[in-house]
Amino acid sequence: MRILVVEDEPAIAAFITQGLSEVGYAVDAAGDGAEALYWVGIAEYDAIILDVMLPDTDGLAVCGTLRARGIATPVLMVTARDAIDDRVAGLDSGADDYLVKPFAFAELLARLRALLRREPVFRGTVLQLADLTLDTVGHTVQRDGKPLTLTSKEYSLLEFMMRHPNQTLTRTAIAEHVWNYDFDNVSNLIDVHIFGLRRKIDGAHPVKLLHTVRGVGYRLGTLEHDDPNAK
Ligand code: CA
Repeated sequence: MRILVVEDEPAIAAFITQGLSEVGYAVDAAGDGAEALYWVGIAEYDAIILDVMLPDTDGLAVCGTLRARGIATPVLMVTARDAIDDRVAGLDSGADDYLVKPFAFAELLARLRALLRREPVFRGTVLQLADLTLDTVGHTVQRDGKPLTLTSKEYSLLEFMMRHPNQTLTRTAIAEHVWNYDFDNVSNLIDVHIFGLRRKIDGAHPVKLLHTVRGVGYRLGTLEHDDPNAK
């Protein structure tokens, strides 16, 4: 899952960015509203963490602009001001939830998970595909009831693919959601991580779930071909 963090205070931005990276999210950081809109224009995010007080504009205006452009990405507004008016204004501008500074990192993670759950294809905290399950709270993966040990990138890759089951995912889509732009040779990295992931989830099983779509990318699923109804 790819997250944009919009925060002008370097220490807080670093704290959030590092914390999210450690639990496996791909994270980009923007220091003001203009930079945030720039990133949103070139990348596709699964959620945006948006500070209200920014040097060039405020988070409410940024959120309003996103919604006016038809971008429905979940927004978690972060504010140092705990006034009722600000919360109402934040939600009215199109934010999905808000968090008051200072906050515990565990609460930020929980609210982020709640926002990602609102995606239409995914409700609940456990993703399931055939006998493969991924618990987004415990960060654990099992196949056929047996726990698998994944690296944090393999986990992120699997989570993204499980949220888009039976759908061919291009390397570009995978790179955008699981990696950041600062990786030079993402295509090779993806192949290496897919190789490792496939060995762990499919290795010993007669039914293969991770398929290569030659020249395009990869698909996780039980179907031989793309499901046109998959989202
Ligand atoms: Ca700020």
